Amino acid sequence: MSRSRIIRCAACAGRIRPQHPHIGVENLETGEEFSYHVRPDCQTRCAEETFTRLEAGKVYAMHHYHSSTCSDESPGFGCAGGCFDTPMAVAN
Ligand SMILES: [Zn+2]
Ligand SMILES: [Zn+2]
Repeated sequence: MSRSRIIRCAACAGRIRPQHPHIGVENLETGEEFSYHVRPDCQTRCAEETFTRLEAGKVYAMHHYHSSTCSDESPGFGCAGGCFDTPMAVAN
């Protein structure tokens, strides 16, 4: 049984490596989760799409998945590992 699963970016359809930092936007009703790269163009798309979904009355939670090498004990948005050093338009 493998713990790995293929994650694809909802913005560019590129693969996201699980050990790399990425962002997840979870639909709290269905458990469906959209994943995005941390790079600015994908984050911009993430913010736009999340805004559109929120406008549709859906409830989402945003998750920040840190790099497997992140050194921060309790990582937040601005972690010691620098995973999310590009600020996002949508705050927690
Ligand atoms: Zn992407
Ligand atoms: Zn981090």
